Amino acid sequence: MKYIEPHAHMVSRVTDDYVRMTTAGCAAVCEPAFWAGFDRSSPDGFYDYFCQLTEHEPKRAAKFGLKHFSWLCINPKESEDVKLADDVIALIPQFLNRPNVLGIGEIGLNKNSRNELKVLERHVDLAARHNQLILVHTPHLEDKLKGTRLILDVLKSDRRIKPGRVIIDHVEEHTVKLVLDTGMWAGMTLYPETKCTPARAIDILETFGSERLWMNSACDWGVSDPLAVPKTALEMKRRGHLTRAIERVVFQNPRNFLSQCPKFKLTED
Ligand SMILES: [Zn+2]
Repeated sequence: MKYIEPHAHMVSRVTDDYVRMTTAGCAAVCEPAFWAGFDRSSPDGFYDYFCQLTEHEPKRAAKFGLKHFSWLCINPKESEDVKLADDVIALIPQFLNRPNVLGIGEIGLNKNSRNELKVLERHVDLAARHNQLILVHTPHLEDKLKGTRLILDVLKSDRRIKPGRVIIDHVEEHTVKLVLDTGMWAGMTLYPETKCTPARAIDILETFGSERLWMNSACDWGVSDPLAVPKTALEMKRRGHLTRAIERVVFQNPRNFLSQCPKFKLTED
């Protein structure tokens, strides 16, 4: 089965994961910038991280036959320090022309604080000025609904942003309709324990349809599974979904969204 992994933090994974993903049919992996598990102490730490995402990691993935793309930003968890965020945002434009960069992400909110909102608006402005796609992280648990509403308000109030060029990630049962109704795309994150389990994600697909929806593993340094997408595809098959319908969610949809950036090309294209 052919699929695209649209959200994975490969810098935290071992080479065996690349082998397993390629063996499972992965055609491309996309890596948004995120929190390293600890706070970086200076903009220089982000500069090195952006080099890793745009130079080193694509080469490492290519060794295992996998196309690697990335998204750049300072993540919401480190956005509380607005001065640091401004300094990091100022670094980003010099990386935007790199061949594997698809857009600005994963931006968004973590604790829904005032400073996080300020930094979110600056990222949205950066994306608008440079005509970039946007990938958004939504907060977890009790903060998710409120955070999703705040994020959608910021995006809708900027007239330069076209909804079809934005994907809101980590949606759940109570936020997916809110997102799809705006014309934006929605991503479901498949985690073994928290976020969406495969069964919940398939329930959401069966309830809301698969238009403008994709699935990802968001695998990182924590408890997560880089094969969550193909495993969920198998579960869809077991539940009677047709091959064509499965391929739409795991391959066609991410390809359609990501191809809005002309740099997103698969080996077969
Ligand atoms: Zn992530």
